[in-house]
Formats: sequence, C-alpha cells, structure tokens
Amino acid sequence: MGLKSRVVACNQAGAERLLFEQIAACDSCERLVDFRATFESPDTRQAHVDGYWAKPVPGFGDASARLLVIGLAPGAHGANRTGRPFTGDYAGKVLYGALYRHGFSNRSESTRPNDGLKLKDVYITNAVKCVPPANRPNGSEKRACLDWLRKEMTQLHRIRVVLAMGRDAFEAYLCLLKANDVIETAGRYRFAHGGTYRFDGESRILVASYHFSRYNVYTGRLTEQMVEALFLTVNRLLADSGRNRGP
Ligand code: SF4
Repeated sequence: MGLKSRVVACNQAGAERLLFEQIAACDSCERLVDFRATFESPDTRQAHVDGYWAKPVPGFGDASARLLVIGLAPGAHGANRTGRPFTGDYAGKVLYGALYRHGFSNRSESTRPNDGLKLKDVYITNAVKCVPPANRPNGSEKRACLDWLRKEMTQLHRIRVVLAMGRDAFEAYLCLLKANDVIETAGRYRFAHGGTYRFDGESRILVASYHFSRYNVYTGRLTEQMVEALFLTVNRLLADSGRNRGP
C-alpha cells in the first residue's frame, strides 16, 4: 500500500471511529435515554455478570461492504447488553448463522464483542440505535435517529444491496431515499418479505425481510427455508451488481 492510500485508509478509520463515538454519546431522545439507564441498575448487573452497554449501539462490520443489513433497534438483552448489533440474542443467532453459511463471516455465532468475529462484505446496523421499551420506538425517535443511519451510509461507499429486516427498517431506508430525492413518496412501496425494490437513479437494491425475531421464527412466520432463500437472493443480486460494474 502506497503512502497516499495509507493516509486515506487512516482517515477513513478515523472518520469511522469518530462516528462511532458520536453515536454512542447521543442523548437526543429523552424517553430512550431514561430507558437505557434502567439497564445500568445494580439489579440488572447482578442478573447478567458482564453488565450492560446501555448506550446507543453503532453499526458494525466491513467498511467496504456491498451488503448493508438494517434491523429495527438493539435487543434489550442482546445488542443493548453487548454493544454490538445483533450480538447475544436470538435474532442474532439466526442472522449470524445465515451470514456464515453464505460466506459473509468467519464465525457462525456472535455472542460478545472481541469474540473474533470478522464480517466480510457486510455491515450491520439498526434504524434506531437505542433500545426502545417493548421494542417500539415512537415516530419522533425514528426520525431523530435517521440522521445517524444516513451518516453511516455516507461512509459505506460500496453498498449494492440493502437488506431491511422488518417493516420499520424498510420504512427508514425509504425515508432516506425520499430525503435524497430518489423517490417522491415512501408510501408507494409495499413491504413484502423477499421483495426486491429498484429505484431510478439509485444503484442500491432494497430487499425486504421479516425481522429474524424469536417471535417470527417460533410462530412460523419466518422459516429456515425463507432465510436461506433470502440470502440466495442477496448473493445473486450482489453477483449481478458485480457483473454490471464491468471488468
Ligand atoms: S435513538 Fe438515536 S437519536 Fe435517539 S438517543 Fe438513541 S442514538 Fe440518539
């Protein structure tokens, strides 16, 4: 690597670090700040030996990724505990298992930070970075957090496929497209599991999925076969986008 590219790589890493720190320090949403704080109580610490991150959870993954996975928000006892998206909960078990089987990581599990997990060609984040009560952020919280998603995406220059896990993530991404004047109205696009959405003047393809939550899996709404089919679609779209980019 030449000196110039090393300087660029160093600046990129610095920008990523800065954004990570800015997100982790955000306290814009009073209700969520208060809710986060409940996980810092000694009682909660006692129940879970490692303690809780209990701050906004920034995205994680390969800065050169072509696939972006967007979830809804940190799980109370998953990402909100470990500080890494989808790490340490049921949805993460399903997601990271699928990512491993389809060539996006070196490990099939994500249980804690510093577990040696390395993501390849994928970056994972949430539409809302703070754990919400009952997994339900309100409208103003979703709007407030959109800017962090936008900033994360600004640093991810190679994204070709966006996998939105759940309707909220789907709508958050559409809101960004609307803010960027790519689409006129988000309401025109209907959420459908496995649906793929292309937009004029936009190279990134949106893929919609049911959230990989325990509820969706246990009720049979989302099956193993559906997850496999989804990632086959994602890999096919990535392969096609590679071909479209030319030699
Ligand atoms: S939800 Fe987003 S905008 Fe609101 S406090 Fe958390 S990080 Fe900040």
